[in-house]
Amino acid sequence: MSLMMDRIDALRKEFKSAIAQATLVRDVEAIRLKFTGRKGSVPELMKELKDCSIDEKREFGPKLNDFRQEIEAAIATRAKELVDGAEKAKASAIENFDVSARVPSSRKKGTTHPYSQIVERVENTFLSMGYSIFDGPEIEDDYHNFGALNIPENHPARDMHDTLWLNRRSHLLRTHTSTIQIHAMESRKLPIAGIAPGRTFRHEAVDASHDVMFWQCEGLFIDKGITMSHLFGTAKAFLSSFFDTDDIDIRIRPGYFPFVEPGVEIDMRCVFCKDGCSVCKKSKWVEVFPGGMVHPNVLKSAGIDPEVYSGFAFGFGLSRLVMLMHGISDIRLLSSGKIPFLRQF
Ligand SMILES: [Zn+2]
Repeated sequence: MSLMMDRIDALRKEFKSAIAQATLVRDVEAIRLKFTGRKGSVPELMKELKDCSIDEKREFGPKLNDFRQEIEAAIATRAKELVDGAEKAKASAIENFDVSARVPSSRKKGTTHPYSQIVERVENTFLSMGYSIFDGPEIEDDYHNFGALNIPENHPARDMHDTLWLNRRSHLLRTHTSTIQIHAMESRKLPIAGIAPGRTFRHEAVDASHDVMFWQCEGLFIDKGITMSHLFGTAKAFLSSFFDTDDIDIRIRPGYFPFVEPGVEIDMRCVFCKDGCSVCKKSKWVEVFPGGMVHPNVLKSAGIDPEVYSGFAFGFGLSRLVMLMHGISDIRLLSSGKIPFLRQF
């Protein structure tokens, strides 16, 4: 009998010493498992008690139960103390954070990717003009990438897009950000004014000016009474704000894109030179903005009545814009992840 009592006392002593030394919550959990876990010391003693006499059971059963409760309470208290202490330490570390501390000059700083920089600049420019930012999926179905954009099956314009089809031929990696036009028209209330910068994918032979992934930015404006002159005005306002100059001159050439009618190519007089440079290839003009009036078939496919509403759409290559602005001659560098290249921005 006294042997059982001795064992309980010894366990209590061992437990008290262990719990006093626990400095981490996981130490407390280990102690809990050791003493009251399924194969812990206390359940083992309870098992032994089953083979004892009735008198012994009467005497030690309640004692063991009390001991178990004592352990559980001590464990809960200690765990709470440790958690509270850790939180206090964390809060005081934040309080004592010295924002004016000097960063050692040897420490290298990270930079944002040139794509992120240009996307932010383009977005800010259009946001200041009252546009919203639209987004859409990179994996598209045939309908959003082609059909709804007035490029039906067997349309020759499909050949212009070297498409990366997914296993199921019904899905693909979007070949242009024009897909987002359709998503915007399907999900938003009119009038719609937004831009959508994003990644696009083509099954290209990769070289210095072609990559399988590149960035585009799509723009869309639909309301009553929208005309081509709104597009030209928008293009000029954007270029003026983006290149930070009032001296923006544009010229218009006819262009063909199935989802606009009429379609145009908007060129900008080179802002980098007066008499020709490598950016404008000595022509003094830079191609910037393909666009046009949204084709009535496209409006119809999104359930918009082309007799009531009209709109313009445009798109431009952000990859090309980044390359122009920074004088980057190889598009592959942009997705290479090469640190020496990225450190320059
Ligand atoms: Zn030039």
